[in-house]
Parts: sequence; C-alpha cells; structure tokens
Amino acid sequence: MSDTFDTEPKTGPTGLSRTGMTADALRAAISDHLLYSIARPPAILRTEHYYRALALAVRDRVQARWMPTTQNFLDLSRKVTCYLSAEFLMGPQLGNNLLNLQIEDAAREALASLGQDLDEVLACEEEPGLGNGGLGRLAACYLDSLATLQRPSIGYGIRYEFGIFDQEIHEGWQVEKTDNWLAHGNPWEIAKPDVNYQVYWGGQTEQYVDVAGHFRVRWAPAQIIKGIGYDTAIQGYNVTNCNTLTLFSASAVESFALEAFNTGDYYRAVEQEVAAETVTKVLYPNDEPDIGKRLRLLQQYFFVTCSLQDILRIHLDVTCRPLSALPDSFAVQLNDTHPSIAVAELMRLLIDEHHLAWDDAWDLTVRTFAYTNHTLLPEALETWPLSLFGECLPRHLEIIYEINEHLLNQVRDRFPGDDDRVRRMSLIGEDGGKCVRMAHLATVGSHFVNGVAALHSELLKASVLKDFYELWPERFGNITNGVTPRRFLALSNHGLRDLLDDTIGTGWLTDLDRLRELESYAEDESFRTRWRKVKRANKARLAEYVHTTTGIELDPSWMFDIQVKRIHEYKRQHLNALHIITLYHRLKTNPKLAIPPRAFIFGGKAAPGYFMAKLMIKLITAVGATVNNDPDVNRFMKVVFLPNFNVQNAHLIYPAANLSEQISTAGKEASGTGNMKFMMNGALTIGTLDGANVEIREEAGEDNFFLFGLTVEQVEALKATGYRPADYIERSPELTGALQLIAEGAFTHGDTEVLRPLLDSLVFHDPFLVLADYASYIACQDRVSEAWRRPETWSRMAILNTARSGKFSSDRAVREYCDEIWNVGPMSVTM
Ligand SMILES: *Cc1c(COP(=O)(O)O)cnc(C)c1O
Repeated sequence: MSDTFDTEPKTGPTGLSRTGMTADALRAAISDHLLYSIARPPAILRTEHYYRALALAVRDRVQARWMPTTQNFLDLSRKVTCYLSAEFLMGPQLGNNLLNLQIEDAAREALASLGQDLDEVLACEEEPGLGNGGLGRLAACYLDSLATLQRPSIGYGIRYEFGIFDQEIHEGWQVEKTDNWLAHGNPWEIAKPDVNYQVYWGGQTEQYVDVAGHFRVRWAPAQIIKGIGYDTAIQGYNVTNCNTLTLFSASAVESFALEAFNTGDYYRAVEQEVAAETVTKVLYPNDEPDIGKRLRLLQQYFFVTCSLQDILRIHLDVTCRPLSALPDSFAVQLNDTHPSIAVAELMRLLIDEHHLAWDDAWDLTVRTFAYTNHTLLPEALETWPLSLFGECLPRHLEIIYEINEHLLNQVRDRFPGDDDRVRRMSLIGEDGGKCVRMAHLATVGSHFVNGVAALHSELLKASVLKDFYELWPERFGNITNGVTPRRFLALSNHGLRDLLDDTIGTGWLTDLDRLRELESYAEDESFRTRWRKVKRANKARLAEYVHTTTGIELDPSWMFDIQVKRIHEYKRQHLNALHIITLYHRLKTNPKLAIPPRAFIFGGKAAPGYFMAKLMIKLITAVGATVNNDPDVNRFMKVVFLPNFNVQNAHLIYPAANLSEQISTAGKEASGTGNMKFMMNGALTIGTLDGANVEIREEAGEDNFFLFGLTVEQVEALKATGYRPADYIERSPELTGALQLIAEGAFTHGDTEVLRPLLDSLVFHDPFLVLADYASYIACQDRVSEAWRRPETWSRMAILNTARSGKFSSDRAVREYCDEIWNVGPMSVTM
C-alpha cells in the first residue's frame, strides 16, 4: 500500500475514498462499478463483468494521477515530447496498470474476496492490436518509459476500428479474421468529442490577396472529415506521472455534409458520414506494397493534421505561448516515414493559417521535428505517385516543390556541377513514374535523423541517406532500440521477477543495469538450480498454452527453440525450417542417432497479400505435421506453429525460450526488439551480425552468443560477384537432401506442387541468401546442441545474458532521445 494515500479524503458510506489503494478500497470500487457502471444483477455476473469493473476501478486510480500530471505541465509550461506513430501495439492494459500502480496483490485479494481469480479476469482483456509488429511495439515501450522517467509526453496515432487481423491456421494455411477489438467496448479510453479537428482532402488551391495586400493561398477541399480524439492514460511505474496517448477516429462533419446536398439528399448526406468513417476503419499491413494506396495516404494525413492542430491548440490557446516558441515547447518525433507528411502540413498551417513568412516557418519546422528511420529495404521506403499525391493533397505538393527548390539550391551551392547528386536527393523521384519520396521529406524537415541500432545507423549514412549525411553530417546519429522491462520481465515473468527481487533487490525495474549484480551468481550452483526451476515453470506454462491452442504436447525438459516475429523472407523462417528438415533427415537415415531433444516453436503473422510469407507458414506447419506424427523422430523433435502471435501470448513465449532465433540476412533487420526480450528473459541467441544482434553479442560476450552467417560486407561482395544458389546446393549433400525432401512432397503427402514456388525462389533467386548461410547455420546449431548437453554451462551462459541485458531497456533509449534530440527533462508530479 502506498502511503501517499493517507492524506486522501475519506468519503462515501464505506469510509474509503473512491481511489484508495488497499484491497478493501479496491473491493468496494469493484462492487460500485458492478452496480453503477456495469448494471447487471449479481445472479448473471460473469468473469468479463468483473474484468470491466476492475478495469474501471483501476482507470479511476490512474485518472487520479493523470489530471495532476496534465495540470502540472500546463502550469509549468514544460517541454513535451510528441511521439507521432501510425501504430501503437499496446498489448493488454489491466495487468500493466496494476503493476505500474503497484496494486497487483491488492487487486488479487479484492477479487478473491468477491470469488474471482485475477488471472482469469486478466485473460478476459481483448488487446488493442493497433500495430503490425516491432515498430508499433517500440512506440508502446517508449510511452511506458517516458511516463516512468517522468518526461511529459503525448503519443499521437490512429484509433483503428479493426486492428491487425486475427490469425487462424486451417490445414496449415493462414486464415485472416477481422479483429473486432472494440466489440465489447474499451474501458481504457476517454472519448473527447469536444477535441475535434477538420481534415481537408482533395480539391484545389486558390491564390488570393488578403486585406493587408499579401499574396496568400487557400485550399478549397473536395471533402472535409472530422477527427475526434480518444485519450488513454499512460501510467508510469512507481511514479505519479501519467502521460497521454491520443488516438484519432474519423467521422463526418455534419454541417458540411448537409450543406453539400440539398435537403432532399438527406440520405446521401448520411452515406457521406459512413464514407468518412472508413478512414480509420482498418490497420494496413506494413509489408503489402499496393493495397489501398489512397486510403493509406489519407490515414497518414488524417492523424498527422489532427495531431499538429492539437499541438498548436495547446501551445497557442491553452498555454498561450507565441508561435516562435513552438520548438521550445514541443519536440515532435516521426516514427518512420508514416507521419512524414507532417513536415509539409506544419508548413501549411504556419504559412496559410498563421500567416508566417516561409523562412520563419521553415526554421520552426526543422527545429520541431526529428525522424527515426526503421528500414533500409528499398521496397519498404515509402513513396507516393505524384499524380495521386497532387489529387489528394494539392497544397502539400506545392509546398513540397518549394521545399525541394530550397534543398536543391543548397545542394548545387555545396556540390557545384554534381547533377547526379541533385537528382538523387530530390524530394521527387523519377524512377518508374514520378513520385514523392517520404524519407527525403522527413530528412530535410528534421534537425535530427536516427537509426535504431549502431549497425543500422552506419548503413543509413552509407546507403539510403548517404547524400543527406554528406550535406548535414551533424544531423545524423544512432539510438539503439529498447524494450520495457516492466512488461517484458516483471509482468510476464513472475518467477524471474521474484528470483531477481530476492537476489539483487527491486532496483532493476527502473535501473536495468543493476542486473549486472547477477553476474557473480552465475557461478553459484544453488542459484543456477533456482534459475532452472523458474525457466522450467515458464516452459510448462507455455506448453500448456500450446496444448490448448494446437493440441500438440511438449515436454518442458526439452530445449525450447523459438522464432516469433512477422513472417518475412528477410527474417528467414525458412532457414530455420531447413535446419529442422536436416535433423529430420539425419534421424530418418540413421536410426541409431540420438540428438538432444528440441521443441521448435514458431509464431508470427504474414501480410495477407504476401504469398511467399504465407507459403513459409505452410512449409512450417507441413514439416510439423510430418515430424510430430512420426515415432522415429518425435522422441527428439516437435514443431509447433503458434497461431496469432500478439502481445498477450508474447507474455508466455519470451520467458519460456532457451534459444532465440535472430537469423535475418545481415544488413536487413534494422534492429529487432524481440531479440532483446528473449535476452532479458535468459535465452541464448543464435544470430547473424545484423541489427541489434551485434550489440547483444557485444554485451553478452562472444562466448555467450551463437554467431553464424555472412557479414554485411560479405553479403554485398557475394551479391556483387553474382550469387548462384546452385553452387551451395552442389557443395552440400545435406542441403541437397533437405531441398529434395521438400521437392518430392515428403511433407505434403506427395504433393510436389504446393511448396514449389518457395523452393524455386530459393533455388533460382534466393534474394536473402538462405542457401549461402545454410552450412554456417547448421554447424552453429550443432554447437547449440552440444552446449545444451551441459546444463550447468548453459545456465551460466543464460544467467550472463540476463545480467548483461541492461542496455536494452527502453529507459536507456528514451533517456538518449530526451538528452540528445528532444531536450525534455523530468517533471516530478505529486498528488
Ligand atoms: C517484440 C514484438 C515484435 C517484434 O519482434 P522482432 O523479433 O523484433 O521482429 C513483434 N510482435 C510482437 C507482438 C512483439 O511483442
């Protein structure tokens, strides 16, 4: 119980304040909400009603901290970080809020006294899947750290009515189901219909001369849509600070729709309303190039303009500061290029609406924005066809042309005669039809550009943003990603949390470098025994989940070898599958062979239109069906594809891993964050020198990391000299054998066609060098198996991985953003 609450007024017939933190106060609050908010007679109350009542009781407690935080930053006019992201993969909120308020035990006791079990109640929560994967989860981890580090901040994004699809597996294939996460209401959000903004779209621009005789431009849109803010409180851990996540939802502008049609067209006006609502209907997959282009651009512009209008409203109307002070009041971070239209939109607002001169507006814009790049993959760099862009955002295209003119003049001044450079740096691309290059727009409009791991940031400066780096070297830097140890250790791994608390105290929760104190315990046999017991219990918990969801039984004494992440060729789940097939082949051809038993566990969604990724799922499930039902091999190996990987089941997965698969082609994974979650939870990594793996290996020590594969330089050299996958097949009888098994239909009941496109892609193109890295991967996996035979050595290595994972806390990352980019300091809040 927190002693802060002794000073709270004791009110109500129970003598308990509405937001008391004791079990008794919580019990009274749950009972109140059951009566006044849920309104069901006791006889028909079900577990989900208790979930809702507890959620509302917890929200009250969070709100008691939210209001003083908001009031504080308004009173003190402190600088605020605004994190603009098209995705926030928040995960379940109830457990995290109980943890951050430190009332888990009180809630458990309160529910028990009402005949309910906290874990069953927690399981009722429908998680908001408002992100595809790592990028959206990163935004959520950063919000947790910002609040915990007491930095004033607002997250801005989109309230998708349907988040990322739910994945089912039917006969080994992915089937998508709509994620209707709002069907039963969302107890965490507060709708703010009074906080709404107009969003213009389409139409044309007009020049006019204002009363003072100035030339001005106004935008006459074809359509106006309204954005409404929904706020969710982001409670920091063990602090009063509670920040805000504002997600915008689209609806029609009533008055506009009714004006547009005469009264007889009432029903068409209503239809217009329905059309407007489609803007925030669904989250698009991040790796599907051509789907819903226009709507996607509208989604991006929609949330960006709402966010910027909100920021200007707070700045000008609430805290009443001058426009010129904008960069001193707000730091706006662009999470990838999805919000990069913000550069042109802020210019439009400053020039057209607030009548600033171009140079003044540009100065404020660049000082306000910073941009985080998340990918080097050329196909993932966002561009918009120029004609589409001009039709939808005519004023922004004019502004972008003008920004471009200033930029290219600067380039010509610095690099006279270098026309090629001018062409490369232009905001308008000429390759395959004219297009607007959003990464270039984000870069020119920002005072700082960062990559998300040391290697990635270096490659950024040497490849996609090389020319910009040469123009403005001082603007480039690195901030390696991190993950929150509250959710990904304390909340999801109670066993390890208790062991850590017992061994080194509780300081690690907000100072993850303290885990270093574990290093000496790696040599302590009794500690290692306790460590293994925790891991074993986590594996039993995952095994039970696997059994109920797939019917497959796993033995928790086996090695749990796990690869969970989006399904993608560059992430190379098929390389993992080739290892499994190789082991299967060895066991089938040598009946005397005994290998240390392993459970191979996969999870991840494929973009609905990404055929090759869906085929990779089919390959894994087909191999699994064969392996799991073959008594010759299923004593040594099992293969599981866990459907619907999301934050909720991630809580069960990361803590149960012995081996973390981080096997992307070097140079392709910007950072990865799953690799960090595994490390914190004491898994050993098998990985390439890619993304943050490089730094994970540096921290863990090379003896505690299983390294394989080509380096970035070797990948580039091989591609430059002409990579021929056939060479690698010829050289390796095991690889030939594994590919042969797929080709002859050994896993597909003799069907030789179904997996052929995947096989052909590997054999004839292999764009991600799967076959080039195969031999090195297999040899490394053999070393993994040897290490697993020595449990004491393995435990020592695993303990050292956790002990040395401190760097990968999102607290470290957010502190770096605050110090190096945002200049946002802590603001302590008291109730
Ligand atoms: C961490 C996380 C990811 C990102 O995983 P990577 O291995 O870094 O690609 C994706 N989805 C969920 C649900 C996560 O928790």
